[in-house]
Amino acid sequence: MRQKTKLIHGGISGDPHTGAVSVPIYQVSTYKQEGIGGHKGFEYSRTGNPTRHALEELIKDLEEGYAGFAFSSGMAAITAVMMLFNSGDHVILTDDVYGGTYRVMTKVLRRLGIESTFVDTSDLTNVEKHIQPNTKAIYIETPTNPLLKITDIQAASAIAKAHGLLTIVDNTFSTPYWQTPIALGADIVIHSATKYLGGHSDVVAGLVVVNSQELAENLHFIQNSTGGILGPQDSWLLMRGIKTLGVRMEEHEENTRKIVEFLVNHPAVKKVYYPGLETHPNHEIAKKQARGFGGMVSFDVGSGEKADQLLNSVHYFTLAESLGAVESLISLPAKMTHASIPKERREELGITDGLVRISVGLEDVEDLIEDLEQALK
Ligand SMILES: *Cc1c(COP(=O)(O)O)cnc(C)c1O
Repeated sequence: MRQKTKLIHGGISGDPHTGAVSVPIYQVSTYKQEGIGGHKGFEYSRTGNPTRHALEELIKDLEEGYAGFAFSSGMAAITAVMMLFNSGDHVILTDDVYGGTYRVMTKVLRRLGIESTFVDTSDLTNVEKHIQPNTKAIYIETPTNPLLKITDIQAASAIAKAHGLLTIVDNTFSTPYWQTPIALGADIVIHSATKYLGGHSDVVAGLVVVNSQELAENLHFIQNSTGGILGPQDSWLLMRGIKTLGVRMEEHEENTRKIVEFLVNHPAVKKVYYPGLETHPNHEIAKKQARGFGGMVSFDVGSGEKADQLLNSVHYFTLAESLGAVESLISLPAKMTHASIPKERREELGITDGLVRISVGLEDVEDLIEDLEQALK
């Protein structure tokens, strides 16, 4: 089955009992048993719910893994995956991971004894240098936010395998439509499904796919024990979003390509960050491991003042955190998502006060370009 067909026919489609074409919302907490233990696969909805199960089967198929799991948010998914580890274990992570991932690792899990080191994984020698006897996993985000840095998933997985470590990939920015990390050697894929998978700024959810029975059993035990599951309504909403992921991602990419071309040629724009640009330092790796470059682009307008002016002058770009929705969003990482990082460290990383990030939506691209043009003036 090809990707766009899988989005529609993957997992469990429809309802065998009624012929309903869409999976019903099983708004139910418990299930009748015909005698003790005599159930039809569902006992209690924390453990398993038919609507959530259909979503979990779908994301498993899309990511080409062994089993899927749906959580109440991306952060609940990430935390559940980290619960696979024990006190005293160590994880190496990409240095510019999502802020919430950095926070849960350093402020919550570190307190519980799970150690973490953050390195620039776009250069894998940094990973090898930091492997310790207690290291258990390499956790990669690629492309990263907001500088769209790329890590070679296949090469990272090879290093992990050689040292007996798990490879975990946060695939939120690319989605399985463009990038399937398990096929490249990763063990676990994580999504904030709040972003492109949902796609309409109307649901908060997290998904995980694992590549083995052992990981599936362990993660199901954690999901059922800690209970951060996705409800049936939101599971259904997410399945509805995923059906159009293909057409949305193609259109996001097409619009982004035109906007990038416009930005690169604009005199007020100092630098453009986009993995689809041949001048991007990891362009070749991005091309090798992903089928598309996505709809996120960052650019530097030279100063915080100019960035503020731009933000205040755009009409179609909504000033907001989050990304991956039908509406175009704009943000200023230095003052929003990355404000907690000290200014010197931010400048070192390239997250200057003049850096603007946009999540390109599905509006008519001519309107988006005209809007940026007048705002840059
Ligand atoms: C948003 C996001 C998360 C966190 O997901 P929530 O659904 O907001 O909990 C994790 N990783 C990335 C890359 C994200 O963009």
